[in-house]
Amino acid sequence: MHIIGGGLAGSEAAWQLACAGVPVVMHEMRPVRGTEAHQTEQLAELVCSNSFRSDDALNNAVGLLHEEMRRADSLIMRAADAHKLPAGGALAVDRHGFSAAVQETLLSHPLVELRREEVAGLPPEDWDSVIVATGPLTSPALAEAVAKITGESALAFFDAIAPIVHHDSIDQSIAWKQSRYDKVGPGSDQAGDGADYFNCPLDKEQYEAFVAALLAGEKTEFKEWEHNTPYFQGCQPIEVIAASGPQSLRFGPMKPVGLRDPRTGRRPWAVVQLRQDNALGTLWNIVGFQTKLKHGEQVRIFRTIPGLAHAEFARLGGLHRNTFLNSPRLLDPTLRLKAMPRLRFAGQITGCEGYVESAAVGLLAGRFAAAERQGRVQAPPPPTTAMGALLGHITGGADASTFQPMNVNFGLFPPLSPSEEGGNARGKERKQALARRALNDFDQWIGPTRQAAA
Ligand code: FAD
Repeated sequence: MHIIGGGLAGSEAAWQLACAGVPVVMHEMRPVRGTEAHQTEQLAELVCSNSFRSDDALNNAVGLLHEEMRRADSLIMRAADAHKLPAGGALAVDRHGFSAAVQETLLSHPLVELRREEVAGLPPEDWDSVIVATGPLTSPALAEAVAKITGESALAFFDAIAPIVHHDSIDQSIAWKQSRYDKVGPGSDQAGDGADYFNCPLDKEQYEAFVAALLAGEKTEFKEWEHNTPYFQGCQPIEVIAASGPQSLRFGPMKPVGLRDPRTGRRPWAVVQLRQDNALGTLWNIVGFQTKLKHGEQVRIFRTIPGLAHAEFARLGGLHRNTFLNSPRLLDPTLRLKAMPRLRFAGQITGCEGYVESAAVGLLAGRFAAAERQGRVQAPPPPTTAMGALLGHITGGADASTFQPMNVNFGLFPPLSPSEEGGNARGKERKQALARRALNDFDQWIGPTRQAAA
C-alpha cells in the first residue's frame, strides 16, 4: 500500500493499515518541498489552531467524532489525548508534542516506511493500491494530474463556502418556499412543485441596513499566497459585491425577480434565498453568500435577515485556498475514485473540513484499504454515526452541483423517528439522543470489524 501525504489523514490511514497487518509506504514531500502553510517537517502538523474543538461527545458532533475515533483505535486521538492542554470543554493540544508523537509511533512501527519525496503526477501504474491524502495544499503537479482524470471542473482550488442553516431554525412564518418564476428544474424538490427555495424578504430599509452592516462588518484577510489562485473570480464574497454599488446585491444574489411574498402578494425589494444542501433536507445553504466576514459577525449580521432571526448555523461562510474533489460525483462509498479505483482519497481533499474530520476520513480510508488488501468486505459505518454521516455526505448525500467542504454536524444525521428514544425531543435533548444512538450503532459496527481484522 502507498499513501501520498503524511498529514492528519495520511498518518491515521497508515496507522490503521499497519495495525491491520498491511505494510505501508508513506510519501511525504516535506521538507524536500514545502507548502504555503506548513512550518515543519513533522507528520500530522497542525497548520493553524491547536484545537480539535469540543470534546463533548454527547452535545457536540465533533466531540462525538472524537469518541468514535477513540473507539476505533485512532492514532491521532491517542496522540491528542496524550498531549492535551487545559482548554475548558475543548480538546487543545501541544502541537509539537502531538506531531512528534504521531511521527515517532509511525516510524517505530515495523510495517511503516516513510519516504520524503513529492509524488509529482499520477502514481506509477505498479502501485496498485494508493491512498491520496495530500490535503488542501496538494502540490500543483499532482493536483493537475488529478484534475486531468477527474475533469477540470471537478477539482476546486478555492472553496467558496456559503453559510448553512439548520432547517428547524428557519422561521417559516416569514420565509416562504418558492422557486423563481415557480420553475420546476432538474434539481427541483421531490414534490416537483416549483417550491425548491426558502425566500426571506427584505424591504428597502432592511436592505439598506443589511448592506451597511456587510460593509462595516469585520473581515478576515486573504493570506499573501491565496491571492493568485485560479477559479476565484467566479465566487466573489458578498461584501465585495456590496462594495461595488448600493444596488449590486439586489441585481445579484439578492435579486427578487420571479418571487412573490404570500403575506403581501407583492415582490419584495430584495430576497435572500436558501437552497437545500443535503438529501435529508435538514441543511439549507444561503445562496451566493460566500464571505470573508469573521464568524461572529456573520452570525450577528445574518440573523438580521427576516426569517433568520433564530438561525442556527451548521457551517459559517468562508473563502480559502483549498484543493478538493467533487466527491459526491467522483468517489464510491469506500472513497475510491470511480474512474480509477486503485486510487482512494482521504482527508480534506475529499471535501470534509477540519483536522478531526480529515483524520476520521483517513481512518476510514485506511480501514477500507486494509479490508480490500485482505479480501474482506468492510461495510461503511452506519449513517447514524458521526463517521457514517460525514462519509455519507461527502460520497453521495451532498448535492454535487453545489458541493463545498463540510464540518461534521448533527444536521448530517438522519433524524430520529418518533418511535426511537428521544424521537420527539428538541434542542439539547435531541442532540444527546442522536449521540447515544450513534455510539450504540458505532459499537455494533466496530466490534465485528475488529474481530474480522484480527
Ligand atoms: P494535510 O494535513 O495538509 O496533509 C497533507 C500532506 O500532504 C502534507 O503534509 C503535504 O506536505 C503533503 N503533500 C501534498 N502534496 C504532496 C505530494 N504531491 N507528494 C507528497 N506529499 C504531498 N482545520 C482545523 O480544524 N483548524 C484549523 O485551524 C485549520 N486551519 C487551517 C489553515 C490553513 C492555512 C489551511 C490550508 C487549512 C486549515 N484547516 C484547519 C483545514 C484542515 O483541517 C487542515 O488543512 C488539515 O491539515 C487537513 O488534513 P489533511 O491530512 O487532509 O491534509
